Amino acid sequence: MKRLLCLVQCIFLISALVFSCPSAIASGPPPHPLPDTKPVPMLKVGYTNSPGELVKDDHGLYKGIVFEYLSTVASYMGCGLEFSEGTPEENLQRLAAGEVDIVPEENLPASGNFQSIDLGPSIGYALLQENNPELKEKMQKAVNAVDATAPYYRFHLLEKYQPVVLPLDLTEEEKSYLQGHPVLHSLTSEGQPPYTYFKDGDHEGIIADILDIIASDLGVTITTAPLQDPEVRRHAMEIGEIDFIADMYDDYNWAAENEVWLTKPFLRLDYVAVMHRDRPLPAEPIIACARGHFYNRAYTEYYYPSSQIRYYPTLQDCLNAVNDNEADIVFMKALTVHNDIYAGGYLNLYTPGNVVFSHLVSIGISRHADPRLLSILNKEISHIDGQQIASILSRHSHSMGQSGTLFSLIYYHPLKSMALVALLCLLAVLAMSFFLFQRRRYHKRLYRMAYTDRLTGLYNLSWLTRNLPKLLDKYSDLRQAEKLFLLAVTADRITVMKETYDVAMLTRSIHKSLKRINAENPWILETAVNSEVTCLYMLCQEPEGMDKRQAVQKFIHDGSVVHIGKVPTNFTYRIGLITIPPNGHIHPSWLFDCCLTAKLEAIATDRNLVIYDESLATQIHQRQEMENLMNKAISSQEFEVWLQPKYDLKTRRTIGAEALVRWDSPELGFLLPDSFMGLFEKNGFAVELDYHVLEMACKIQSERLQQGLPTVPISVNQSGLHITEQGYIGRMREIIDRYRLPAGLIELEITETAFIDFTTKEQRNDAAQIIDDLQEIGFSLSMDDFCTGYSSLSMLQNLPMNIMKIDRSILLAAETSSRSFRILRHVIALGKALSMNVLVEGIETEEQEQKLLALGCDSGQGFLYARPMQVQEFYEEFLPEHS
Ligand code: C2E
Ligand code: CA
Ligand code: CA
Repeated sequence: MKRLLCLVQCIFLISALVFSCPSAIASGPPPHPLPDTKPVPMLKVGYTNSPGELVKDDHGLYKGIVFEYLSTVASYMGCGLEFSEGTPEENLQRLAAGEVDIVPEENLPASGNFQSIDLGPSIGYALLQENNPELKEKMQKAVNAVDATAPYYRFHLLEKYQPVVLPLDLTEEEKSYLQGHPVLHSLTSEGQPPYTYFKDGDHEGIIADILDIIASDLGVTITTAPLQDPEVRRHAMEIGEIDFIADMYDDYNWAAENEVWLTKPFLRLDYVAVMHRDRPLPAEPIIACARGHFYNRAYTEYYYPSSQIRYYPTLQDCLNAVNDNEADIVFMKALTVHNDIYAGGYLNLYTPGNVVFSHLVSIGISRHADPRLLSILNKEISHIDGQQIASILSRHSHSMGQSGTLFSLIYYHPLKSMALVALLCLLAVLAMSFFLFQRRRYHKRLYRMAYTDRLTGLYNLSWLTRNLPKLLDKYSDLRQAEKLFLLAVTADRITVMKETYDVAMLTRSIHKSLKRINAENPWILETAVNSEVTCLYMLCQEPEGMDKRQAVQKFIHDGSVVHIGKVPTNFTYRIGLITIPPNGHIHPSWLFDCCLTAKLEAIATDRNLVIYDESLATQIHQRQEMENLMNKAISSQEFEVWLQPKYDLKTRRTIGAEALVRWDSPELGFLLPDSFMGLFEKNGFAVELDYHVLEMACKIQSERLQQGLPTVPISVNQSGLHITEQGYIGRMREIIDRYRLPAGLIELEITETAFIDFTTKEQRNDAAQIIDDLQEIGFSLSMDDFCTGYSSLSMLQNLPMNIMKIDRSILLAAETSSRSFRILRHVIALGKALSMNVLVEGIETEEQEQKLLALGCDSGQGFLYARPMQVQEFYEEFLPEHS
């Protein structure tokens, strides 16, 4: 780029220099041939130091117009010069004494004995000894020879040493003309940057700047418009609309044709050849000429035969012709060639840069204009400093140097451009990579925020919801084989743990255990956690050699102890499992719901694992229905008490009955307690239902009493919930008091497991107190389902009850296991030893009955004797026959 700029500058500087020192002939005439042997005779010059004329500088070199001219003349005389300095007087004396041969003087001295030769204006005279006519003759001949052979030589020396900047000396008439014409209208050529062109309607370029100088010197405004069609122009000039044309070539014929006077020239334009870069110039090159262009006549047609000239409408077409190999050369202004080639995109064209021909530029003044304008402009042009014009030229050439197109720059600097492009590409790639990296990081962060749990770092349910379809696709083979399943896993007391422990520590510990468990159980494929961090969802595959249930048991085993911090803690899991259906579209939320339902069922039924199936769904649905209907069922008397007789094993007489509730629901049908009691235990409704059943039992008994009919004690089941119920005893007493039943007619059956959580001493005391209070009210108490819990013995010890009701399970076990049989025998014996009535439930066969009789059991209850029946049937049909 810089080199390109320098080159252009050089071209302009050279042209500027040539303008100030115009011709090749300025270099002086060739020296006279000298004989080889003879020493060169020396002409002694006595001079006085006078700057500009003849002076010896600090380096001992002579300079000045007189020095140069004398040197040329001496060379024509075949002499060398030998200078000796002195004052004018000393010089004249030395001349008279013959010590010097000549003394150059600006003016002839008024007196003195010497002869002189006129060397011309601004150079002066050469004074010679009076008595040396030979030297004068010889020197005069040399002067004449210089004038004859190099007529402009003197003129060029003048121009070189005495550049003329004349003062702007306007006459009164001229001044009055300017006063009368404060605005001068001009025309100028266009479209030749940087020479002369219009940009956004403003005239710009070298000519514009020169016009600015003229306008400012003359104190007028000069308007410029683009040159128009010759006819229009001529007319405009005729009627005085246009005062002058700013840039006219110094072709007087052309000026005459256009009816203009030309001022003295103010600018010299050089022309250079433009050629094709890749094509050698043929011996007879074809010249492309713009038709009607001034230089065709002045130069091209003059020097080239017509066979070598091809005409085109415009210079642009000429460039195209050379570019397209139709022509070999086009001549362009050196000033504009740079712009024409580079900005025009002619990257195959170039100029060697040497000036082929030149012409001068003048102002053309309308011949109809006031003649004063011509003399004013001539004076102004003489007044313009050549330096000013030179600086305008270099300024514009510099500005053009900056205007190469990117395309041209690439063309001319392919290596640098490639390096730059490579660098830019690299930067772009780096920027892109950085951008992508940032974006990926940002997306990763977003992804993490959106799809992982903040505390555990595990995927969340949104992730699983989003990815489940993909995962199902991935494991489609397993799915087909019904080996793909989803678990919903929770642990008992997890919510309490979250409140008790530091959550971060808890989740960290669980996460750690989970990692271990997952590592040990590679069949766990993916794990996600719900937003409350209370339930894990695990997509699993059935492992080799295990079924799903076994796999889950292994998980439960592996995770049974979790170290929270450093404390080993037992975890009881509640797990719902659903096998992914092998076919069809699956909605993730449906899958989660099912799994969750199974898990809730596990919690509800106190199991570790519940496998989801359709019946579970129906059950759950039914449970919801029950919950919706239960309160209404009490008020609408849908609950019925059925009675199952208890009997004396020996006499087979009815000794009592157990009240067993049934729900005759218009919506759900006739339901046995197994289908709703579990639910009511969970939701607490069992408490209300028990009171309701107790009231019904009391009512039955009180009605029988009122009617004077025989009764047997009725036992009523009591949910374990009562044990912790506030005001239980009070309410029981209130009911019994209300029906005013004598003691012994209502018994209570309290299941052994009701006291299962009563482990501390205080709790045991509370339980004992309750038992005490109930007996005090008048209830006989049965220890129901005896032998099903783990603390039967401790119950016997702490909770003295009246009746031991041995559960059917031990009776069944005794049939097949002698060990169980022995237990049964000892339990019966123990009850009797504690003075309790011993009753065995669930007697279905004669054998069982016989066995119990043999063991000394007093009473029994079971389908062998009677199934539960309606109250009416019991009292009106069954009891009369069995009492
Ligand atoms: P449970 O207290 O053990 O009641 C005895 C259950 O055993 C009754 O079932 C009865 O029909 C059944 N059963 C009696 N003899 C035989 C037999 O020989 N073989 C077999 N396989 N079963 C026999 P039910 O009526 O379905 O009651 C089930 C459970 O519901 C009761 O067990 C009791 O725990 C509960 N329950 C019933 N009514 C109430 C109530 O009013 N309140 C409370 N809290 N629980 C009640
Ligand atoms: Ca019972
Ligand atoms: Ca029972």
